[in-house]
Amino acid sequence: MSIADTLPGESHGHIISSIINLVCPQCGGRMSEFQCEGRCCRNWLAEWEWANYATRSSKSCLSKRSGKRAW
Ligand SMILES: [Zn+2]
Repeated sequence: MSIADTLPGESHGHIISSIINLVCPQCGGRMSEFQCEGRCCRNWLAEWEWANYATRSSKSCLSKRSGKRAW
């Protein structure tokens, strides 16, 4: 099972902003660094790194290929 299978593409920003705000993206519970202290007790470090990488790579890919601002 890979991380990409468990998370839809549009949730990158949601995961990043939730972790920044120390709110678990899954259960909405409190977070300590990347470890959920709420109901799901999930560790989000891998998702954090993956979401950051995916967001960064897709953005740089777009700007390089279009040559002008997408927005
Ligand atoms: Zn949680």
